[in-house]
Amino acid sequence: MSVQKDRQMTTNYGDPVITGGLEVFDPKFDDIYFYDGDDLGARCSEDRTLFRLWAPTAGEAWVNLYESWNAEQPDKRRMRRDVKGTWVLEAEGNFEGIYYTYSVKIGEEMHEAADPYARAVGVNGDRGCILAPGSTDPQRWTEDRPALASPLDAVIYEIHVRDATIHPASGAVHKGKYLGLAESGTTGPGGIPTGLDHIAGLGVTHVQLLPVYDYATESVDETRLDEPQYNWGYDPKNYNVPEGSYATNPYDPAARIRELKELIQAFHDKGIGVVMDVVYNHVYDGHLIHFTRLVPGYYLRYTADRRFSNGSGCGNDVASERRMVSKFIIDSVLYWAEEFHFDGFRFDLMGLLDIDTMNELRRRLDELDPAIMLYGEGWNIPTELDPKRQAAMVNAKMLPGIGHFSDVIRNAVKGDVFDPKAGGFITADAGYENEIRKGIVGGIRYDAEIRAFAQEPVQSVNYAECHDNYTMWDKIVLATGSDAALLRRAMHRLGSAIIMTSQGIPFLHAGQEFMRTKDGVENSYNADDLTNRLDWDRCNVHQEDVAYMRELIALRRQHPAFRLRTAELIRKHLHFEHSPYHSVAYSLRDHAGGDEDRHLYIIYNSNREPVQVSLPDLGEWEVRFGEPLVRSLKERTMEIDGIGMVVLGIR
Ligand code: CA
Repeated sequence: MSVQKDRQMTTNYGDPVITGGLEVFDPKFDDIYFYDGDDLGARCSEDRTLFRLWAPTAGEAWVNLYESWNAEQPDKRRMRRDVKGTWVLEAEGNFEGIYYTYSVKIGEEMHEAADPYARAVGVNGDRGCILAPGSTDPQRWTEDRPALASPLDAVIYEIHVRDATIHPASGAVHKGKYLGLAESGTTGPGGIPTGLDHIAGLGVTHVQLLPVYDYATESVDETRLDEPQYNWGYDPKNYNVPEGSYATNPYDPAARIRELKELIQAFHDKGIGVVMDVVYNHVYDGHLIHFTRLVPGYYLRYTADRRFSNGSGCGNDVASERRMVSKFIIDSVLYWAEEFHFDGFRFDLMGLLDIDTMNELRRRLDELDPAIMLYGEGWNIPTELDPKRQAAMVNAKMLPGIGHFSDVIRNAVKGDVFDPKAGGFITADAGYENEIRKGIVGGIRYDAEIRAFAQEPVQSVNYAECHDNYTMWDKIVLATGSDAALLRRAMHRLGSAIIMTSQGIPFLHAGQEFMRTKDGVENSYNADDLTNRLDWDRCNVHQEDVAYMRELIALRRQHPAFRLRTAELIRKHLHFEHSPYHSVAYSLRDHAGGDEDRHLYIIYNSNREPVQVSLPDLGEWEVRFGEPLVRSLKERTMEIDGIGMVVLGIR
């Protein structure tokens, strides 16, 4: 999240005479000026470039053509007013490699801005760049998306491009870059695989990249990459262009595009899909963004007294409910899916966007490929939009096929994220058993007591940690006393085990498999590399834990009973079993077909002491997972040590 800026509000929304007396805030504005063409932006061929800009409140519009990203004198070309508030210019000649901006006259002021629809930019993204289609494709660029029968088969792994390889021992040549994470065969301390090979070795099906669209210069200045700078990138500047600081040359507009494609190709070659973290809910600066310069008052959400709505906490919210904004978001996502072959989209603060936009997007992605995942943060946040229209968890029933991060299971596993010292189920704090059950069933309505936000399991993204808040390891350290030091690894493993066996879509944070720590830093969005980087030394030390995670992922991927497709099937096959306090047990019964176990019994035990449980009378149980914890297993009785998960099966 970027720092909130305190700037004077724009009060110039243009001369109403231009729009026939219609204010930009008027709901009728969309009826008159909605433009549904697919040619906004700059389209170039060898002998001409077509520009189309949507700017209904402008009295004049110009294209400024520049020889370079920092040339001072533009070649100014006047645009012609066209339909639906658009402006056009057809420029004869070859403009490939030329930089451009628009200037619009708003009232008596001239505003210069980058093209929101730009698909290439110069360094720091202040000017668009004209590139020929296809000129940014890598040498080998296939259309192959890894197959995915259902999002419920996915195992998502969240990673920041720079974090992945910036550690001095990462073994990567292009440390901190798109190409660094695309390198195969890299090794680290103790000869362990690092980067791409480490991720592929875990068995995850998808990586989710923290923002890779072009984010603000105030966060990372692409002209000063030799200085220490770090940011997660939740401050969008150019929505349709990759970030330049991860490219080997941010001054070459094609390099960032080609190298991000090479990264995606490298994952696809390993059979791993790539999910893009998209932040359409706010912009880096509501006053400086090209949206506000081109059509002041239109793209962002306002209060009745004409201040920016601020549900995002970043000083502005994007008005997704306005038709040209909704179209912009949908066009943008489809562009990333088609041009870059992304396999899914994770929406930051999705609850701030409107339901219609998200549903239309789901529909359009289904047309392209129904396997493309769509999920986001469905937090319920006050914004200047009717709560009934917000794409939030409370409205999940109106958002079929769209997932929400489950704060239910997250808080049940490790404790409330807003209370640093609070423990959860894994630290054996009291009263979490039922909350864990709500997570196990994927947040669906299982019965009158065990129910959360979801209609179907595909709507629940289950996680114990992500880039936000303390890592699970740091949270455990905060929530437990020194007497627990030797047990913390077991608690952490139990947390991951719950996530990997619950119904819904499991989500891991990079480094969770080696007990990632940020040394107690709760929000590391602009902290240094030392805090954020994946520590391959730690990974080497924790190879046993890495192996444990690999086994968990294999367990899930091997058995379809952990991936039941519908709420109805969960209610039918999943039975909660009696077990002591600080433990939760259940069976998955009568799973038919294949070579898999017909019945499974799963117990999560956070007691430090051994516990004894009675097993359901379904046949002869055998240990499938967690054998070292099993003290005895005789007919209907099992005694297990704490702390951890045991899975039994009957074939
Ligand atoms: Ca940037």
